[in-house]
Amino acid sequence: MSKKEFTRSAAALERAQQVLVGGVNSPVRAFASVGGQPLFIERARGAWITDVDGNDYLDLVLSYGPMILGHGHPAVLQAVEQAVARGFSYGATAEGEIALAEMIVAAFAPIDKVRFVNSGTEAVLSAIRLARAYTGKDKIIKFAGCYHGHMDALLVAAGSGLATLSLPGSRGVPQAAVSNTLVANYNDADSVARLLTQHDDVAAIILEPVAGNMGVVPPTEDFIAALHKLAREHETLIIADEVMTGFRAQFGGAYELVGLQPDIVCLGKVIGGGFPVGAYGARLDIMDLVAPLGPVYQAGTLSGNPVAMAAGLATLSELQRQNPYKKFAERTAALKDTIEQAAGKAGVAVTVNAFGSMISPFFAAEKVVDFATAQTSDRERYATFFWQMIHQGVFLPPSQFEAWFLSTALDDELFAGLQEKTYRAILNLTK
Ligand SMILES: *Cc1c(COP(=O)(O)O)cnc(C)c1O
Repeated sequence: MSKKEFTRSAAALERAQQVLVGGVNSPVRAFASVGGQPLFIERARGAWITDVDGNDYLDLVLSYGPMILGHGHPAVLQAVEQAVARGFSYGATAEGEIALAEMIVAAFAPIDKVRFVNSGTEAVLSAIRLARAYTGKDKIIKFAGCYHGHMDALLVAAGSGLATLSLPGSRGVPQAAVSNTLVANYNDADSVARLLTQHDDVAAIILEPVAGNMGVVPPTEDFIAALHKLAREHETLIIADEVMTGFRAQFGGAYELVGLQPDIVCLGKVIGGGFPVGAYGARLDIMDLVAPLGPVYQAGTLSGNPVAMAAGLATLSELQRQNPYKKFAERTAALKDTIEQAAGKAGVAVTVNAFGSMISPFFAAEKVVDFATAQTSDRERYATFFWQMIHQGVFLPPSQFEAWFLSTALDDELFAGLQEKTYRAILNLTK
């Protein structure tokens, strides 16, 4: 295994740190939990991402989810080029917004109407406002380890970024901003029932239908069934935060695959094809509360941006055409096998969770079903593994608690190579 050189990357870090906080624009990119020199990227194409030193990596970060077709997919590139030529932003509705909304409405049974925003964070904060307006209640139940963007009210027990940095939440969030936030445990319906008994003014339960921000943690059937029963009894809405899972495990949401029936759905990541897009949607009696039809104000100068809409539309059209989902699931199952075999041989404790095109090997002895069990993982071991993979030319998330993603650009040969490298890196852990 030839060690990579990071000369130019080191210079870029030095320069970046002078003018960007920590040298980055989102904390996980600083590699705090794996240590060492963070990557500085020159370009990306297909399954590959290339750093400023010219090192190529198979990319399993995929911009933390959006790049499901790999980088620079020709159909998306062409759509974006054509859109750019027609102007960058209009401040009035264009047909691309209608077409992308139609595609989302057709793919999501719980959604009759959509509002586009610019990020997952914005989608969630708007959905929460809407749920409060619809129910006339103020409190929100979230789950420890689920991340819903960086809005004040939900920066409590919020998964990967915070878990990685071991922050209790965030400074600068006033107590009042989180006083209506209640935290339950994922896969633990009793913890939700207790909160609903203690508080009679819960507007919504928000969850990732398959958690991805404490590493991948699928829900149990019983948990989902109990949530429905509780939501009905307490007249509380269910918000499915599908920002990560939307169009990742099937053409539509993960909610359907786990048997969840949400009232409001949040989207982001894949629906923008790599451009800044978020969306929230629901049935008519909920959505028609949003301005201009209703009293819930929510707006955005660049919302529904024509270039971003074109990228999203081309990405979803290509996914619909290729229907890669069965293959994704087969591959994550195969990769899980590889990891378990290598770990068995090396005598390394590992537990692998996978769902659709998302997978997380936790270096933990017990099954990972919630935030507490995710926290039993050996993060130092993950860091060692991460660097073994970097030096073999594979870019994994620089945190034990971020999901790995597959893209359609990973062909059979590259996937076989990924399996081999993963196997080797795990065997090396005990050397
Ligand atoms: C990424 C993510 C968000 C936040 O989206 P941004 O576009 O980063 O604001 C919200 N919820 C979930 C589940 C996410 O994975």
